[in-house]
Amino acid sequence: MTAVANAVADVSLDPIVYLNGELVPLSEARVPVLDRGFIFGDGIYEVAPLYANGAGPRTPFRLQQHLARLARSVGKIGIANPFDDTGWRELISRVVAANEADGSLRVDQDAIVYIQVTRGVAKRAHAFPAGVQPTVFVMVTPLQLPGEMQRAQGVRCVSAEDRRWLNCDIKSVSLLGNVLMAQYAAENDAFETIQFRDGMLTEGSSSNVWVVKGGVLSAPPRSRKILEGIRYGLIEALSQECGIRFEAREISEAEVRVADEIIVSSATKEVLPVTQLDGQPVGEGKPGAVFAALYAAYQRAKVKEAQHVQQGVENESRENITA
Ligand code: PMP
Repeated sequence: MTAVANAVADVSLDPIVYLNGELVPLSEARVPVLDRGFIFGDGIYEVAPLYANGAGPRTPFRLQQHLARLARSVGKIGIANPFDDTGWRELISRVVAANEADGSLRVDQDAIVYIQVTRGVAKRAHAFPAGVQPTVFVMVTPLQLPGEMQRAQGVRCVSAEDRRWLNCDIKSVSLLGNVLMAQYAAENDAFETIQFRDGMLTEGSSSNVWVVKGGVLSAPPRSRKILEGIRYGLIEALSQECGIRFEAREISEAEVRVADEIIVSSATKEVLPVTQLDGQPVGEGKPGAVFAALYAAYQRAKVKEAQHVQQGVENESRENITA
């Protein structure tokens, strides 16, 4: 069973990043210390996959949904969205093109785009300052998806009480609660920490959590207690496509501990089976049939979006990017 292995960018790379109107090497990108992202964690972020597509155009996956969530996140904290969807798409294309041109990103490498928007730079005072420009940062780096081994064996998780705030629906850069949970997992040689609030399942430190019992797939309902992953709606749709019953409902800790399957999902993990929780096997201790069906459906969804791009067809998600 694979414990710790996450899809992280190779930090030895020095990709070209976008910061406040300029394309610069990451090693040269600077923000003032009075940036409210630094001082208060006053900002939001977004992470979306950009899949390689052979020699064809790269396929952003569910970018429309990611940009909609970004718009919701800035809206919820009173920052004017610096770009509309077209503007964000163009910007991402520019950053991708710059990195492909300078060799930081191969055309055949899957990538991840990280977007961060903070309230901007102002004299240190808690309430929103007037007349400041948001800080905008965009970085595109290679994405290493989980390997065949992790999917075949599943990952080990630990659990802990969810002690975060009650605005978890905002994709905020104030991530200390999540950082502490990720560290707890790392210290316990686990992949993720699955959290419970008042005895009910919420989510992982950086993933949504799904539970299967008797062939029925469940997840906690959308609320301020969890971040609605872009995979939330996707997996809902995929479960329907696969004929798997799905229920969004409160799930008790006791139910999680007797689940047949537990699955985690995120942009960088896609879907992964959890085969051990707090040292106990989940179900039969191996990836289950619902995971297998959802993983296959997920891969089909990727192919479908890629085909749309190759055909130059704008699908309902407008998922294409030509850089
Ligand atoms: N919950 C949390 C706390 C997360 O950090 C993530 C990953 N961004 C998710 C859920 C899953 O979201 P997505 O499917 O959009 O990656």
